Amino acid sequence: MLVQIPQAQQQYFNTGATLSYHFRKQQLLMLQAVIRKYESAILEALYTDLGKSAEEAYASEVGFTLNEIKYTLAHLRKWMQPQSVRTNLLNLPGSSKLYYDPLGVVCIIAPWNYPFQLLIAPLIGAIAGGNCAVLKPSELAPATSALVATMIAEVFEQQYIAVVEGEGHTVLPALLQGFRFAHIFFTGSIPVGKAIYQMAAAQLVPVTLELGGKSPAIVTANANVKVAADRIVLGKCLNAGQTCVAPDYLLVHESVLDATITALKDSIERMYGKQPLTNTEYPKIISEKRFQQLLQYLPQGTIVHGGGYDVASRKIEPTLLTQIMPDSNIMQDEIFGPILPIFSYSDHTAALQIVQRQPNPLALYIFTNNSSEERFWMEQVPFGGGCVNNTLWHLANEHLPFGGIGNSGIGTYHGKHSFYTFTHAKPILKTPTWFNPAFKFPPFKGKMKLFKMFMK
Ligand code: NAD
Repeated sequence: MLVQIPQAQQQYFNTGATLSYHFRKQQLLMLQAVIRKYESAILEALYTDLGKSAEEAYASEVGFTLNEIKYTLAHLRKWMQPQSVRTNLLNLPGSSKLYYDPLGVVCIIAPWNYPFQLLIAPLIGAIAGGNCAVLKPSELAPATSALVATMIAEVFEQQYIAVVEGEGHTVLPALLQGFRFAHIFFTGSIPVGKAIYQMAAAQLVPVTLELGGKSPAIVTANANVKVAADRIVLGKCLNAGQTCVAPDYLLVHESVLDATITALKDSIERMYGKQPLTNTEYPKIISEKRFQQLLQYLPQGTIVHGGGYDVASRKIEPTLLTQIMPDSNIMQDEIFGPILPIFSYSDHTAALQIVQRQPNPLALYIFTNNSSEERFWMEQVPFGGGCVNNTLWHLANEHLPFGGIGNSGIGTYHGKHSFYTFTHAKPILKTPTWFNPAFKFPPFKGKMKLFKMFMK
């Protein structure tokens, strides 16, 4: 019975074993050690599941998590300290503090596109916060899922951290049978995110939802077009475009359209060669279903570069599309593949209207060397996070919180923000007993003047 796992974890959590700094530090060190021990096996599993090169897999998955552990270990003691905050006049001579309490038993659900990083990075926050955790890797990355299950079982007791494999729509309801998680941390698609939110709402379980959507990149007339092209191609082709914060589509000012397309073609050839389909560094599409879905987008515009694909290896060339058919699926769905629709615009407001058709993107990338253009996009569009003159890299800065807004998600994590996500900031006012002014107690009659003096 699956539900016995979180129930056993709850009993273990209730013993208080996970509370101390020493315990949390030890567990992070054990996680660090097991990742290092299995490093080459993880890289192999990621190659099996997604065809990622060892270098790409290390930078975007293994190295990423090791970095998070190192940063967390360096700061955990400080984060765990009760934090003193100011006390208002009415409550003086009291003092005020925030105590960061663990949440309890949490559930972490990950997708297939960064199947290692997106499971382990939240786990680091959960451990740092002093919680127990049930991890649900994606069944669509079976090699990584099986390996993570082996690694976690090797270092942690199931009563502390457990991996449950399988399909989410059967696993999660089974886990929730008669058990209330303290938090559900979900990374994945918008429809599944909504289903999880509903399941969680029935038990008033708080959630973090790291979702997707259509993230625009905008190249203005004042952009460094060559640099922009390199950074857009990297963002679109890393993991063959199967990245939640990949630039989904491109808006280019008409004055630099030709130059941008030329530069994009040049960047693609420089990075992936003339034959990307045979380039062993270029990842594949996760499944036949996703591959077929992506192929349907190819005829929805004019192919100005790429367009080739290989059924056997499930690879699709980095592809640039212009003249997109109005209302085509490619501008309704999150593309999640190496196909880049390009639109030209004549003024900001026309470009803004295109962006506003898909509100609240997870990321937005603006390429410009003009500060008023930069400010315009920052102010006009609510989005999760992003870059000026770059793509993706905001995600790799542990000092920045990562997460969406509206349709693209709820909550944030990374660095200290993971710690805050997996703890409850318990506010406490401490009042000394030597001062007990009568005006704070009934009868209140006649004290209005005094109240108004303190509260206005
Ligand atoms: P998905 O929503 O299909 O699946 C994600 C996880 O949820 C898997 O582990 C799956 O087994 C589980 N699941 C599926 N149905 C479930 C249900 N009914 N109840 C509980 N769990 C269920 O997503 P995916 O296809 O694996 O990933 C792609 C999506 O994830 C894209 O939309 C992408 O943008 C998004 N994503 C977001 C981020 C982010 O950080 N914001 C990162 C990566 C991917």
